[in-house]
Amino acid sequence: MLYSVKIEKDAKYGEIISISDSGEFISPFDVLNKLIALKNAFKSKNNKTLKYLVHGKIMTLNGVKKWAKDEYKSLPKCKNCAAILLEDIYKNNLSTDLFCSQECADANYKELSNKFEEEEHEFNL
Ligand SMILES: [Zn+2]
Repeated sequence: MLYSVKIEKDAKYGEIISISDSGEFISPFDVLNKLIALKNAFKSKNNKTLKYLVHGKIMTLNGVKKWAKDEYKSLPKCKNCAAILLEDIYKNNLSTDLFCSQECADANYKELSNKFEEEEHEFNL
């Protein structure tokens, strides 16, 4: 899933910084950084603090920080490098885990097959 963050006019709340789905941001932490940058820029220009609207809900900055943490936790991630998984997902034959790239899937495959070999070796002793 991707996110967008921008200053916009809301019918109910007026001018706000809004976070919604389908934008250019992959990580919720990038969204948070952008939101803080927007907030600071707006404040230095207009001497006014904007409210934050996250998926239709008004939040404080601490609320947005918590949202970013929870959201990040809930996203599927590559088992090898912990990158957030997008549409392209890779697998290998030794596990049911998901990976961000063929390289990560191969690295995990190698790691697992080394482990299996070691275990086999132990049993042969
Ligand atoms: Zn990866």
